[in-house]
Amino acid sequence: MKKDDKNMIFRQLPSVDYLLESSVIRGFLLTTPRALVLRAIHYVLDELRQKINRVQREDELPDLALPAVVDQINKQITILSQPSLKQVINATGVIVHTNLGRSLLAKKVITPFNTVAGCYSNLEYDLKTGKRGSRYVHVEDILIELTGAESAIVVNNNAAAVLIALDTIAKDKEVIISRGQLVEIGGSFRIPEVMRKSGARMFEIGTTNKTTIDDYEAAIVSNTALLLKVHTSNFQTVGFTEEVPLNALVALGKKYNLPVMEDLGSGCFIDFSLYGLTKEPTVQDSVAKGADIITFSGDKMLGGPQCGIILGKEKIISAIKENQLARALRVDKLTLFALQETLSLYRDEKKAIQQIPTLRMICQSYQSVCRRAKKLLNMIGRVDNTNISLRLCDGFSRVGGGAMPLEEIRSRLLCISPGRLSAPYIVNLLHSYNPPIIARLEKDQVLLDIRTIQEKEVKIVAEAIKLLSATNAIS
Ligand SMILES: *Cc1c(COP(=O)(O)O)cnc(C)c1O
Repeated sequence: MKKDDKNMIFRQLPSVDYLLESSVIRGFLLTTPRALVLRAIHYVLDELRQKINRVQREDELPDLALPAVVDQINKQITILSQPSLKQVINATGVIVHTNLGRSLLAKKVITPFNTVAGCYSNLEYDLKTGKRGSRYVHVEDILIELTGAESAIVVNNNAAAVLIALDTIAKDKEVIISRGQLVEIGGSFRIPEVMRKSGARMFEIGTTNKTTIDDYEAAIVSNTALLLKVHTSNFQTVGFTEEVPLNALVALGKKYNLPVMEDLGSGCFIDFSLYGLTKEPTVQDSVAKGADIITFSGDKMLGGPQCGIILGKEKIISAIKENQLARALRVDKLTLFALQETLSLYRDEKKAIQQIPTLRMICQSYQSVCRRAKKLLNMIGRVDNTNISLRLCDGFSRVGGGAMPLEEIRSRLLCISPGRLSAPYIVNLLHSYNPPIIARLEKDQVLLDIRTIQEKEVKIVAEAIKLLSATNAIS
């Protein structure tokens, strides 16, 4: 199309004022706030402009007649009125999926939320003395009880935990760290960058694959403040590798009177090797081995709310509590409450595994996933084979959240093979379902991992698949 022709078409677009005066939009304004209607109008006009720009031939032009435009505005108002943050169904098989909100809170944790969220609480009020108290006491004792640490504090997330710990211990001083542990966690959180922000000076030692205790010892100077060990979380080096174990690092720290910090990343309280998975170092292990400071996330393998837990020696934790950053990084009462309730479930490991969804999904047996898969298939019933075809197949789930990157947990999956509907189109349809279903697209097949689909969601997924098989849309 010629440029002049396009300019003509742009002029056919109704103006905002014209739309606002139209009877249908005036009808919308009776029930919908003006700002929302305006947002929808601007959005639709913008979309139409972009469409016209892209068009090559006249017959591809969008319908610019008033009823068609108003209809789109109406649809957009509906979309904009819906909350942005909402439930989705995780059918990816990645249990701690950072993009999907990581850990689900246990029912036992959610139920009492009504009370704490809607009522005053003793968040910073000491009921014994009637004076101002500390918000951290509510989780400190149970953290000490569960891990054996001397002291504890909780901040907004583990990135904040690492930041405030480094800022407290090593500002303007040197921190020794192995080159094999300069991790990028994701979302561009990189250990060297965090260290720079904290004002600590990083001193790298060793090589990517090998670092020895002698490397650490040779690097210690008068300005050294900390020996740092970081869990490599989301990757593993294999082959010709060597890492210094925590107890050796602690011994070296003692010799030079230097604290040792371990950023555990995920951090778990349970020895998963008892449940057929790889052995991950537990938080208790690190405490027992004598790390002076330990940091980990609340919402990775621990299965609680987003927060960063710092355990360690009394003296260092006190200094962290007094750091001005603590105020900026402090957790709110809902987080503290959710953490308190999650931690209390850990008093009984069996209960924790049954009730904390993250642990339950990690430990759930293959047989039990198979049963849920069968149930799903039965609920779906017969499907129209021209749209899609269904079968159950074996595959693997992952822990996610940068934990156990190589662990493959055997699982059962619903495999949707495209018929009349293409695989990417099926994925899109599942995304537009309410609630959206997030599946895996692999080798032109759509896979739904049953392990991360919750019991109460099976029915919803079945309905969505039935709808897929019945849709008349073509793609
Ligand atoms: C995940 C992770 C972090 C960051 O934790 P968040 O809770 O996401 O802030 C820091 N260090 C390591 C080693 C991690 O795995």
